[in-house]
Order: sequence, then structure tokens, then C-alpha cells
Amino acid sequence: MSVFRSSRFSRLEPYVPGEQPRERTYIKLNTNESPYPPSPAVLQAVRRASETLNLYCDPTALRLRQAAARVYGVEPEAVLPVNGSDEILNFAVMAFCDGRIPIACPEITYGFYPVLAALHGVKLRQVPLRADLTVDHRDFLSQNCTVMIANPNAPTGLALSLSEIEEIVRSNEKNVVVIDEAYVDFGAESAVALTKKYRNLLVTRTFSKSHSLAGARLGFGIADPGLIADLAAVKDSTNPYNVNAMTQAAGIAALEDNGFYMENCRRVAATRDETATALRAMGFELTASVSNFLFARHPAIPGEELYAKLRERGILVRHFSTPSIADYVRITVGSPREMQALVEALREILA
Ligand code: PMP
Repeated sequence: MSVFRSSRFSRLEPYVPGEQPRERTYIKLNTNESPYPPSPAVLQAVRRASETLNLYCDPTALRLRQAAARVYGVEPEAVLPVNGSDEILNFAVMAFCDGRIPIACPEITYGFYPVLAALHGVKLRQVPLRADLTVDHRDFLSQNCTVMIANPNAPTGLALSLSEIEEIVRSNEKNVVVIDEAYVDFGAESAVALTKKYRNLLVTRTFSKSHSLAGARLGFGIADPGLIADLAAVKDSTNPYNVNAMTQAAGIAALEDNGFYMENCRRVAATRDETATALRAMGFELTASVSNFLFARHPAIPGEELYAKLRERGILVRHFSTPSIADYVRITVGSPREMQALVEALREILA
């Protein structure tokens, strides 16, 4: 740290993303990307948009909002495109939390929530999971907090039902409830339709997983236009051109091709379930993930060792050192061939 850093940020503990190694090619099952490339229409749209990179992009991302609104069944004023959904989470903490309004979230969840709380000096109430790693939605009723829940949750892959989410939203009418739907397209129920009924609900989406655009950085906030206006005010006070021209074009083309991506999500879900069956047959215990990753442990081998042995064999998975989940590894669902390689490597390791 230099002597110049503001005292406000002297004790930052930044988020540590999953490894993105460049020194050799791994079978990359560590950051929940899609194994499938973007559709040809997306590639063409990006190429076309790149021809006018001398000009600023549309800071209101109007066409992208219109395309998203059509797919999600809401008004364009109910959508805010962002530079990856991490950005909308940051905007939400800035817009809806402060020294008096803390955040409540599950104790085991996406690691960015505590980082954002600390960044903005917001208190965090971390609610333990049940022993089976599920979230008890009753713990989040009538809180005097901004509630932040990933549904499905990460890294467990387990989801709350839509009626449980609605109960949380209804019982917290004086506060904002953020439902992070990064993984919803792989098998959970979306709360997007509820944004038309409840003005305190913000649903966040990412195109990093379901829509093969992790490298383009695109996410959305979907909420009542009042909440979206609050978030847009923060956006325009930090980075008005937050979604670049190529990503806006990619997003529009991807939304116009939504069926293609939903079919990819179904393929990933089928591969997930086949891999889960193979792993259970080898003695692994897994959560009933409805996401694009598996969360697995084996009684014969600690999570960290499993991670290291797979890495030696050219397969990257994610291990978290948090004691309550240190036995586990999180395995992104890749292509059927990648998962076959994973299963073979695991067989070798266990032998
Ligand atoms: N929410 C959850 C639960 C995630 O796992 C991730 C991916 N790391 C994100 C949000 C952020 O995704 P992105 O910024 O790529 O849209």
C-alpha cells in the first residue's frame, strides 16, 4: 500500500476472483462460464459495432433495454444494463444501504456481498444456512435491512421457491430486496414478474453464464422504474457509459437469439444431472444443484486436496477455505466431453 491511499480504503479486502490462468490450457470448471460460444448473430453484431468505436456508445442503452424488456416481459424503464452483474450489486449497495441500513444475506453465499458491504462501510448480517446448506427463508422475513439473496445460491446451487421469495419481498416492504438471479436460467424460478407487483424488489441478471458473454461483461437490474431511476442516478454519477458499444450490440443480438441460449442452458442442466449421477456412484455427496455447477464432497478426500489433484491433471475447479464448506469443491458444468474428462480424473484420484 502506498502512503497516498485514502484512510477510508486503507483496510480493503478485495474480492478474489477464480483463477484465469494463461500459462497453460486447463479444462476450466472454476468460474461458471458457459462451455458454448456465443451465437453467430452475436459475433456479427460485435463486428459491426466495432466499426464505429470512434464514437461513444448510447449511455441510456435504449435498444438494449428495449430488447431485454421484450424478453423479460417488463417496460424498458424497468431495466438497467450494467457492466456485469457485479456492477448492479455495487450500485444497489450505494443506492439502498448506508450506516443505518445494513445488509442481510446468507452466511454462505456469493463472496462479493461482504466485499461491497465493507467497501461502502455498511454493516452485514450474515445468516447461517441450515445444516443441509439450504437457506431458511423465514430468517429473512421483516428485516430492517437491505436483503440480498442469490437464488439459486452460490456455491451450493440450491434455490428458494418463488412463493418463499415473494414472502420475503412482501414482508420487507420498507426495504429493498435484491434477488441475484445469476444462475436462474439453469433450473430455478425467476422473480422477474414480481417486480411489476412489488416496488421494493430488485432482480439482478448476468449474461456471463447463461448467455456465453462472460468476457463481454453484461448484466441487468430489473425492478420497478422508481428503483431503476435510483440505480441509474448512481450509474450516471460513476460511469455513464458503463456498457460499451460492442457489448450493447452483443446483448441485443443475444436477446434476439434467446431461444438458442435457453436451449444451451437445458443442455448444461442435462450434463449437470448426468455428471451428478456419475459422481454419486463414485461416493460423492452433492447438493441438489439447479445451477450450472455442482457442489460436491467425498468422504475420502478433503476439498483442498481434490482441487490440487485435479489441477495437477489440468482441470480447474473452485475450492473455498471457509471452514463450513472446506470439504467441498465447486465444479462448473462444462461440455459433456469436459465432464467425461473430469469423471475419469476423479476415478484416477480416488483409486
Ligand atoms: N452473482 C453471483 C451469485 C455470481 O456467482 C456471480 C459470478 N461471479 C455474479 C453475480 C457476477 O457475475 P458477472 O459480474 O460476471 O455478471
